[in-house]
Parts: sequence; structure tokens; C-alpha cells
Amino acid sequence: MAVKAVVFDVGETLVDETRSWERLADAAGVPRFTLMGVLGGLAARGEAHSDVWRILGVDAPETDLAPGHSELYDDALPTLAALHAAGLRVGVAGNMPAAFEELLRPHVDAIGSSGRWGVTKPSAEFFARIAEEMDAAPAEIAYVGDRVDNDILPALAAGMMAIHVRRGPWAHLHEPPEDVPAVRSLDEVLELVRG
Ligand SMILES: [Mg+2]
Repeated sequence: MAVKAVVFDVGETLVDETRSWERLADAAGVPRFTLMGVLGGLAARGEAHSDVWRILGVDAPETDLAPGHSELYDDALPTLAALHAAGLRVGVAGNMPAAFEELLRPHVDAIGSSGRWGVTKPSAEFFARIAEEMDAAPAEIAYVGDRVDNDILPALAAGMMAIHVRRGPWAHLHEPPEDVPAVRSLDEVLELVRG
């Protein structure tokens, strides 16, 4: 079945999270390098990144500033525009607070967040909601994400095409199944979904 809709994860797929994690390190009063290093360790061990604060012995900082336009990867908006121009429906759905939707809402047909939907990746409910919002069958949807555990495996389980973006710590530490296409730039997505 031909792909009619392409849906993107947010963190490390469309948004470079470097500055978000720097803000969190500063707010928690821990050195940025220490925070990043421990996060990498958790990623390598397959453990939840939210454990980082307990390991560092600090309270999780309150600040949860939405990423700004300058934090988008350079290929993010051009790719969304190119997919639109090719006649595809384009969506965004990520584990994030509802307020984070505002940055990308003007550039897509549909957008969702775990904060607003009340379901979280990698649950089957999250991916069922994506199909509902895109008004497409799962087999007509390609889901693009950096995490094998939260993005690739559950998208495949939902019956979608999955595309692995090789950026961010998780994408470099975890291998997707062999038959899943992996890209280093979103520029490659359009060609992949056209088959
Ligand atoms: Mg991500």
C-alpha cells in the first residue's frame, strides 16, 4: 500500500535537544557534561532518561521551556514543506508537553503530544491515535523517529512503515531491525516514502 501520510517524532528527529538539556542542567545546578554523560549511560543501558535526576541526586528541575525555532534541525521545515508539495499529509506526534505543539503546528496537517492525548509512546494507543488523526490506515503511514524502542518498534507493531533517523544518542546506540531504512538526514525521507 502506498504511503499517504508521514508522521514525525519531535526530539532528535525534528528538534535538536542540545539546548533543552543544557537548560535543564543549568536549572538543576549540575555540570552540563555530567548530565549529558549520565544520559548517554542510561541510553546505553536501555533505562529511562528520567532516572538521570535520581542518579545525580538532585530534584528534577521545574523548567520545561518549549524549544524555539532556532532549535529545529536545518532539514526539518524544508522536509515538511517538500512532503506537502509532493501531495502527502504530514503530521507530528511526540512524547512532550502539549505546549510544545505550538512550534510545529503551522507546518503540519495534524499534531499531537502525549501531554494532550494522555497516552505515551511506545503504547499501541499512541500509534492508533496517530492513524485516527491522519485519517489513514496504518499501512498508509510512515513514522519517522530516532528511537528504536519508542518509535521504530511500536510503529512497526502498529502496521506502519518506520524510518530511523540516525541522530541523537539513542539512535547511535541502538540498532533498528535490518529491514528498516535508516537515514542521516530528513532530506532522504521523501524518496523513501515514494518507494
Ligand atoms: Mg525522539
